Amino acid sequence: MDSIKSDNFYNCLKAMHTFAETYAQQTNTFFSVDPSVTSIIIAGLANYKDNDGVPLCPCRNYSNEKAEIELNYWICPCVSMRERKECHCKLFLQPNESDASSSQKISIETIYENL
Ligand code: SF4
Repeated sequence: MDSIKSDNFYNCLKAMHTFAETYAQQTNTFFSVDPSVTSIIIAGLANYKDNDGVPLCPCRNYSNEKAEIELNYWICPCVSMRERKECHCKLFLQPNESDASSSQKISIETIYENL
């Protein structure tokens, strides 16, 4: 990720941080034991929100991002998360997954450290 980011990126980062914590609580899912995983995914979502206006899933390769946005499948929370609580990015983990922590919180400072 670029080291120099716009003010809008940091606004998007705050928005995605709040979203991730709130959505984890709503869905009874938990962040990874490795905070760098959580941080990198939140930053990836913020990057898409900054560049494209919507938080497209950062763990996939897209041949046509505009078409993906119109399909609305991989905009976070994606359909597989909404329907089956399956987050292949490991941002939202089920409590019984081996790499799930017991936390639904991450500090913004930790996210900054992983930018
Ligand atoms: S897999 Fe789905 S829920 Fe997980 S970060 Fe990607 S879009 Fe969001």
